[in-house]
Amino acid sequence: MQRKKSNNRNGRLANASEKKFHGWLKEQPCCWCGSEAGVIVDHAKGATFSHNKVHIGHRFCLCPCVECDTQKTIHGRRLGNESEKFAELDNQYRIAVGYSAGASSEEWWAIKEWGK
Ligand SMILES: [Zn+2]
Repeated sequence: MQRKKSNNRNGRLANASEKKFHGWLKEQPCCWCGSEAGVIVDHAKGATFSHNKVHIGHRFCLCPCVECDTQKTIHGRRLGNESEKFAELDNQYRIAVGYSAGASSEEWWAIKEWGK
């Protein structure tokens, strides 16, 4: 019997750990300009993104304000190194929520290795 192929095997929803991270991100100031007017959860490379065969789409998320997100999404402006920004946020998240709450070491390395 043939198994039905999904269009994208990484097109899954965020798991509990990723959702918890997204919830925390929403309460942070803008990761680029520091605005406290509210942020969105930006999937840096999209929800289905994988690097080195590690699915990091839902983990590799940042918290830009609407203005900074518009600069990136509409105007294609590069606001900084997203991998480094992620490491910074993940570190703050670990301190705030608990060291085991952050990215798994596999995810962490995949994002670090992506490096941009
Ligand atoms: Zn901003």
